[in-house]
Amino acid sequence: MRPLDIGIAGCGPAGLATALLLARDGHRVRLYERFEAPRPIGSGLMLQPTGLAVLERLGLAEAAVACGARIDRLFGKAGGRTVLDVRYAWLGGRDLHGVGIHRAALFDLLHRAVVAAGIPILCDRTVSASPSEKGGGRLAFDDGSLSPPHDLIVDAMGARSPLVGEAAHPLSYGALWASLDWIEGFDGSALEQRYIRASTMTGLLPIGRAPGRAHPQAAFFWSLRGDRLEAWREAGLEAWKSDVRRLWPATAPLLDQIADPAQLTFARYAHRTLSRPARPGLIHLGDAWHSTSPQLGQGANMALLDAWSLAMALRRSKRIEEAIERAVAMRRSHVRLYQGLSALFTPAYQSDGRILPWIRDRIVPPLSRLWPATWIQAAMVAGTFGDPLTPLGLEPYASPAASASTSPTASPASSASLSSAEALASTK
Ligand SMILES: Cc1cc2nc3c(=O)[nH]c(=O)nc-3n(C[C@H](O)[C@H](O)[C@H](O)COP(=O)(O)OP(=O)(O)OC[C@H]3O[C@@H](n4cnc5c(N)ncnc54)[C@H](O)[C@@H]3O)c2cc1C
Repeated sequence: MRPLDIGIAGCGPAGLATALLLARDGHRVRLYERFEAPRPIGSGLMLQPTGLAVLERLGLAEAAVACGARIDRLFGKAGGRTVLDVRYAWLGGRDLHGVGIHRAALFDLLHRAVVAAGIPILCDRTVSASPSEKGGGRLAFDDGSLSPPHDLIVDAMGARSPLVGEAAHPLSYGALWASLDWIEGFDGSALEQRYIRASTMTGLLPIGRAPGRAHPQAAFFWSLRGDRLEAWREAGLEAWKSDVRRLWPATAPLLDQIADPAQLTFARYAHRTLSRPARPGLIHLGDAWHSTSPQLGQGANMALLDAWSLAMALRRSKRIEEAIERAVAMRRSHVRLYQGLSALFTPAYQSDGRILPWIRDRIVPPLSRLWPATWIQAAMVAGTFGDPLTPLGLEPYASPAASASTSPTASPASSASLSSAEALASTK
């Protein structure tokens, strides 16, 4: 296909990765972002072997592993009983693992690479309307101005994209999140959780170092019903801390780092899967196409796979519409599968129900230790269930054991990300 002029709205993982891949293929790319300067929001997230496979093709996976924390296991307890124990090693073969990473570190890796590749980012541009409303491949902004016409628009504006007509279904539970300094006494290679039924959940994810910070960090979270946020604020920090300590006494020194409720950000979750994530001249990627609760930890990884599939489809197609159809077709079954799994599992971990958590705590654990349940759980967590990578010509990312970081005390993000950005620039 001839080089296209492509406008990408949104500088999250989907937008930045799409920009890099398409610019590398020779397309003229321009990014639009609502913030005055692009920035990440939130604490940390888990990269899976799927998302890492895309970062590897971008020359950024080793830097992500180096500044994040290698995760080998997901582990959860309810009332002293182990109810969740999933290990990547159960997938067998290569050395697969997750990476807990500070959002700022992931953003920094991608953003530096975009800047190094000379891709223009137009900031303070809040997209307000769909090009089809305003005509011909243009984005409309909230100040009434229009973008120049683009051959293709990529909507990577996340779960609340203004270009999506279908409303998301809000989930009753969300979570309070904070990035805290890592302390000894926890498993540095595990995502750990504690539960009381499905209505109370707290967890800790090692996330390595944020750019410019010497000390490794952890993402700490506490689930909360959206309509109880005000009551939580009114009850005060000390009342909440004593609830957390009762559930997981070892977190007491971590909680000492929280002196102000403003250190905790409340994330609301919503579920939506667009049945038609494209229309002529426009494709929705990442959370704009499929958003859900982060229970399975796949959203950013799926956004990276979406970006890769669009790049592949453009390479393989003669016309834009053919490429859009192909990109959607390559991702559709994986998106449906994981959106379905998220809808299925979220009530077992975040709801007021009693039956599902009872089954989770009493029936599932003994069965889940038997093969092939061990493999199925590990594949679901790794994002490889349903084999999304083969159609995309990718393989799950596996670290060379010697170079993998094995604890939250990994090497500084800034130097690692700079070298990756430079590596990418030199491949162009
Ligand atoms: C608390 C929490 C924990 C999570 N944990 C994980 C995890 O462990 N693993 C995982 O894979 N995923 C996780 N996720 C999901 C993950 O964060 C998302 O799936 C991912 O960020 C989606 O990327 P995106 O680029 O599609 O959208 P976003 O990251 O939402 O980026 C959208 C971008 O568009 C910009 N934008 C929005 N509106 C406009 C506008 N009108 N005009 C211009 N720009 C606009 C935004 O500023 C932003 O830069 C988690 C989510 C939450 C909330």
